[in-house]
Amino acid sequence: MADDLLNSFMTGPDENGRFGDFGGRFVSETLMPLILELQDEYEKAKTDASFWAEMDDLWEHYVGRPSPLYHAERLTEELGGAKIYMKRDELNHTGAHKINNVLGQIILARRMGKKRIIAETGAGQHGVATATVCAKFGLKCVVYMGAHDVERQAPNVFRMRLLGAEIIPVTSGRGTLKDAMNDAMRDWVTNVRDTFYCIGTVAGPHPYPAMVRDFQAIIGKEVRTQMERAEGRLPDTLVAAIGGGSNAMGLFFPFLDDKAVNIIGVEAGGKGVTAKMEHCASLTGGRPGVLHGNRTYLLQDDDGQILEGFSISAGLDYPGIGPEHAWLHEIGRAKYVAITDVEALAAFQKCCELEGIIPALEPSHALAHVIKIAPTLPKDHIICMNMCGRGDKDIFTVARALGFEMGEFA
Ligand SMILES: *Cc1c(COP(=O)(O)O)cnc(C)c1O
Repeated sequence: MADDLLNSFMTGPDENGRFGDFGGRFVSETLMPLILELQDEYEKAKTDASFWAEMDDLWEHYVGRPSPLYHAERLTEELGGAKIYMKRDELNHTGAHKINNVLGQIILARRMGKKRIIAETGAGQHGVATATVCAKFGLKCVVYMGAHDVERQAPNVFRMRLLGAEIIPVTSGRGTLKDAMNDAMRDWVTNVRDTFYCIGTVAGPHPYPAMVRDFQAIIGKEVRTQMERAEGRLPDTLVAAIGGGSNAMGLFFPFLDDKAVNIIGVEAGGKGVTAKMEHCASLTGGRPGVLHGNRTYLLQDDDGQILEGFSISAGLDYPGIGPEHAWLHEIGRAKYVAITDVEALAAFQKCCELEGIIPALEPSHALAHVIKIAPTLPKDHIICMNMCGRGDKDIFTVARALGFEMGEFA
């Protein structure tokens, strides 16, 4: 199968959800029937024109797609090299790419007759997107969130409450995203009949990594069309930030078979990728193992215990990475680099000052890498980075990092 996958990336994964040695379905027997039911429904929906017609309609009228492809002129000029484009997914309803995927999963849940939606969330962005779409369709929404994150992300917790969601603080483990995902999976097994588990990134057991990627692939599909219109050709280099890897897979996937397109994923390097593990760079600084139902690269200690990552960006601190990225890394189709907190902060400020766009800290990592490579590339080289989220949620973190007292402005 791996050979077939190599001939066309667009056909992966195999029938067991494997991307080479990664992915799969490492779940308990009780979860297996649920996973197979979901896979069945998704396979049907995938080739059902009415499913995609409903998606297209909501993408246009509820989310605001297509998002613009924007030529960042002043940034390009300042760096003096490659021509830089930004895919403006931060302009979506709820301020990030997460809703592209949530809509797909909720429409699927409705087709399956499920009335109760559960989700895990770390920084709260996926929880807010899920609560939003559940409110729109009148579905019950339960969000599992690490107790530690509930404290750190008060504005998003309040948003979810306003939208009618129930938030369950998770105190097991260290009370962060990894633990929230474990508890959501336990809930799913216990409430088999009426519950749909809406996962927020390209992780989890098959079919989630492929399904979430397919929903996010709208990003890359739009870029292809928009770039053809703007430049009459494909971009030379794609750059996207990676937490679990869904916005990146969404941009990359429609280009995987175009061998001339360079693909770069940017992990969170935190305070630096060293043995101290003060980072979230699963590929750059982790090893393969099994977590949340799939085999992939993980941050772990010598005994295989999962480590908490560290990053200034709450949306990037997942200790794993989607299995398709692990595979693209191993076969060399995509390249993965790490950007530190300090570099991301500098890129954040540059983007505000030169382009009038306040980016989220996650895509600031992607931008920091663009800022590194653009000056080394010729002027006719086209880079497209995914501006996957807006920075409103991050202004308090940035203020603290830059030494501003928010009180001064209140
Ligand atoms: C959640 C989030 C991420 C990280 O998730 P991926 O699955 O890696 O895309 C990145 N950027 C933003 C703005 C987010 O909200």
